[in-house]
Amino acid sequence: MLQQITGAVFEYLAENRLLIQLAKKVGLPLGGTLFVGGQGAEETLDTVKQFNQDGRAATVDCLGEFIETEQDAVDIANECIKVIGQIKEHGLDAQVSLKLTSIGLRIDPDIAYQQLSRIAEIAYQRNMRVTVNMEEAMMVESIVRVFERVHEHYPNVGIALQANVFRSRFDLERLKATVRIVKGAYDGDDEIYIQPKKTVDETYLQLVKVNLLNGNYTQIATHDEQIIQQIIDFAQMKQIDPSRFEFQMLQGMRPKRQQELVRQGYRVVIYVPHGVDWYTYLMRRLAERPANIAFTVGAMLRR
Ligand code: FAD
Repeated sequence: MLQQITGAVFEYLAENRLLIQLAKKVGLPLGGTLFVGGQGAEETLDTVKQFNQDGRAATVDCLGEFIETEQDAVDIANECIKVIGQIKEHGLDAQVSLKLTSIGLRIDPDIAYQQLSRIAEIAYQRNMRVTVNMEEAMMVESIVRVFERVHEHYPNVGIALQANVFRSRFDLERLKATVRIVKGAYDGDDEIYIQPKKTVDETYLQLVKVNLLNGNYTQIATHDEQIIQQIIDFAQMKQIDPSRFEFQMLQGMRPKRQQELVRQGYRVVIYVPHGVDWYTYLMRRLAERPANIAFTVGAMLRR
């Protein structure tokens, strides 16, 4: 009950436009750095460097919420291109991720296509992966279409698919690409979203297994220990080389397990949120897990 109330409060705060604007001016509080790489490229790349030191790679997520104009979309794409350049300049082990809505998908899918193509081209020249995040149900078809157009020219671009969405199993077969499998951060209509959670977990495993057996590179993005262990066992049984997949976790979640997986010989990629739009991302992390509130407040008090 308490968890539902705190969740609703932080969801409300996440969407509050006034607080979003204020947060951009005030800057990232110290506790926020547990879950967010940084507001500026320098800060974020320092975070990535720390992960790289113990063998963890990163996917820098170029955050962008509630964009309104084509220029906003271009600005987010430019920031992402700047990060790609600096990752290479500093010799870091990192890739990038982003939402297509942050580069104009809601304004016009052609804008998102143009901006993603620019990002993909720069990343391609630097031999770097780009992952397109998956979003709410009404955007999925549009995201998949833009992805297909860009992927045709740039195989370094991959896409996230959500285990809690019925259509994902068909998208997996349709796309034949590098896929990040996630459980799914959105819910809603029973015709679109799978219930209950146990079935989502089973579907998650199924999607990962199908993609691994199809020979596509698989990004296993979860903190779920049972799933992680079952995938390790499956890969060993089917003699799938660990170079065909990687584990991904969010910055600040299960750091000890991240390091342990590295020591076990697996590639581990940490999702590092980047940019001035850190506020909404941080509020959503606090909404989904009350333990994160204690970590964040604790870090602020230790300042
Ligand atoms: P859950 O069922 O939430 O958690 C499973 C178990 O993990 C828990 O029961 C607990 O035992 C353990 N656990 C979780 N957190 C911790 C912790 N901090 N410490 C210890 N144990 C813990 N969603 C989208 O919709 N689109 C995307 O593009 C997208 N990209 C993502 C990228 C990455 C790298 C990750 C990790 C997630 C992404 N998500 C995305 C979010 C995802 O859909 C889930 O909402 C989120 O990952 C929580 O699901 P879970 O797999 O960790 O499983």
